Amino acid sequence: MLRRLTEANVLEVWECGLGGTPVARALLIASTAMASRGEQDVADLPLSAVNKLLLDLRCGAFGDALPCTTDCPACGESLDVTVSSEELRPAAVGGPTGEAVPVPATATLTTGGFTITYRALTGRDVEAVDPSSPGARRALLRRSVLSVSPPVDDLPDAVLDALAPRLAELDPGADTVLTLDCPQCEHRWEAALDVAEHVWTDVSGYALRVLHDVHALAQAYGWSEAEVLSVSPARRRFYLEVSSP
Ligand SMILES: [Zn+2]
Repeated sequence: MLRRLTEANVLEVWECGLGGTPVARALLIASTAMASRGEQDVADLPLSAVNKLLLDLRCGAFGDALPCTTDCPACGESLDVTVSSEELRPAAVGGPTGEAVPVPATATLTTGGFTITYRALTGRDVEAVDPSSPGARRALLRRSVLSVSPPVDDLPDAVLDALAPRLAELDPGADTVLTLDCPQCEHRWEAALDVAEHVWTDVSGYALRVLHDVHALAQAYGWSEAEVLSVSPARRRFYLEVSSP
């Protein structure tokens, strides 16, 4: 059963995620959906499964439509696109609704004289690599390797380069890519959409709105934070309207 984002846990998630890295925030929000599952750590799921949890949660809390703004790389025209989270949801992954918990898929690749067994990347892999370090891409690819035959300490760059597209094929929902068409110059391009950052923006926007309401109502009526939050959002709207000058 998917746990939903509620007002109480949105505030909690926002507060916990404030100082975190983007990947830590993604795992924190995704773990909200996983909480009822107990033993499974969201950091060990393949990235596509994390994206699916994030999209399911976002859809439940903020609706299916994801508004995105971007600029055409060819002519600079600004584009407002609304994507449905249904379109972005990776189809092939097991979900939070009772299906088997997805485990990272594995595969084998023979290239450059090596046979490599590798697995899909998880949030734990992304967390372990500093994205600003010069060897970040290599370190991340290296983490996907389960075994190499013949054994070698340092895989050549060419081998890791050959592995990168295979990894993407192994877990297609790990990256969310949109195909966009410019209405101005008809240029077509692919843009990456960061689901986690999108959800974080929604979570922090929502949390800040609630906190502003708490501030205004506390000031107007002398209520405590807990008292304001115990009033339903619809009644709060009413009290805000009648109390504002
Ligand atoms: Zn254009």
